[in-house]
Parts: sequence; structure tokens; C-alpha cells
Amino acid sequence: MATAIAAIAALAEIIIANKEKLTELDAAIGDADHGLNMARGFEAVRGKLAGAQAEDAASVLKLTGMTLISTVGGAAGPLYGTAFLRAGAVLQGQAELDTDTAAAMLKAAIGGIKERGKAVRGEKTMLDALEPAYEAFTQAMNEGETLLQCLELATEAAANGVEYTKTIIATKGRASYLGERSLGHQDAGATSSYLMLKALTGFAR
Ligand code: ADP
Ligand code: MG
Ligand code: MG
Repeated sequence: MATAIAAIAALAEIIIANKEKLTELDAAIGDADHGLNMARGFEAVRGKLAGAQAEDAASVLKLTGMTLISTVGGAAGPLYGTAFLRAGAVLQGQAELDTDTAAAMLKAAIGGIKERGKAVRGEKTMLDALEPAYEAFTQAMNEGETLLQCLELATEAAANGVEYTKTIIATKGRASYLGERSLGHQDAGATSSYLMLKALTGFAR
């Protein structure tokens, strides 16, 4: 589906544009490769989608997830890959993307990340951006907001989540080796999650 391919292209663009920034963040408390890993993965996704036949949106997400798993590497590759696979499974058989479906996709994506990474909120990971984003999304949805408004509020919550990661000690991922020295630094994965939500919001506008 053209819309799904264009949405993934928007994600690829924002990640590739922020390759250095994400790598710098990971350099402070990790191994300086998050931006490189993610950009490599999304370059591969771009290539795969350029050659893809007219596929339904669920297949586009599945292809994205599988490509991320096989090309990003590190901790983030399997986590984001699983997230896209799970989101794609929710979309399977859905004629159109409404707010309920989008919320279910985000929930499934987060569930996949938690299952694979065994992390919970507050451990200075991508979940600190994604879980508040999901909460803001569903709250807005329950108040009858449009899909775009839900995404805008979710992105704002993710941005706050990224700020919050500066105030906590990492207990998952490489940054956890630093203990208290991880304080004051923002998490790279939370930042890439925020960026992807921001790109989706821009796309939905
Ligand atoms: P690596 O740490 O293997 O080099 P990346 O640098 O690509 O992998 O990704 C690091 C990011 O992955 C972290 O900033 C964090 O947000 C996320 N992360 C690491 N471990 C976990 C986990 N168990 N659950 C959720 N996210 C995690
Ligand atoms: Mg790294
Ligand atoms: Mg690494």
C-alpha cells in the first residue's frame, strides 16, 4: 500500500537525518553506534521497499520488521524489528487505519519490545518514550481526538519521556554498565523512538 510505504519512508528519512545525533548520544553512555545501526537498517528498508511489489500495509510493516532485525544489529535491531512485526500483525486484514487500530498497533509494538528486552519503564530505554506516548495516545483517543491529534500528543509525551531519561540511572542495555554515570545523559533509543513518532505525526498532517 502506497501510504504505508510512504509512512515508512518518512521514518527512514528522520532516522537517517539524525544518524550522527543518535550516535553521539550513544557515545556518551554506550558504544557509539545507535545512529549508525539504525541508519543502516533504514537504508536497507528503503532499498527493500523500493523493489517491493504493490503490497498491503501489513506486509510493508512485516518486511520492515524483518529487514530491521537482519540489518540493525545491537540491542535495538531485534527490539524495533519485533515492534514492526507486531504492529504489522495487528494491521493484517484491517481495511483502514483508524485511531483504534493505531492504538492497538502501538500497544502490540510495545508489548513485543518488552517481551524481547525484558525491560520496564524507568530503566532508561526506548520504553521511556514509547509507554508515555501510548498513554497519551489512548487518553486523547478516549477524549474523541482525531488520529493526528492523538499522534501529536503522543509525540509530545515521547519528548517528555526522552527528557525524563536524563534523570534516571540505566538498568538495562549497555548504559547500565555505567551505573550512576549514566545520569544526566539522554537515552539514544528513547530518542530514536521519539523521532519516529514525530515523523509519523508529520506524515499524518
Ligand atoms: P547496542 O547497545 O547493542 O549497541 P544500540 O546502540 O543500537 O544497541 O541501541 C541501544 C538502545 O537500545 C538503548 O539506548 C536503549 O534505548 C535500547 N535498549 C537496550 N536494551 C534494551 C532493552 N532490554 N529493552 C528496551 N530497550 C533497550
Ligand atoms: Mg550502541
Ligand atoms: Mg553496539
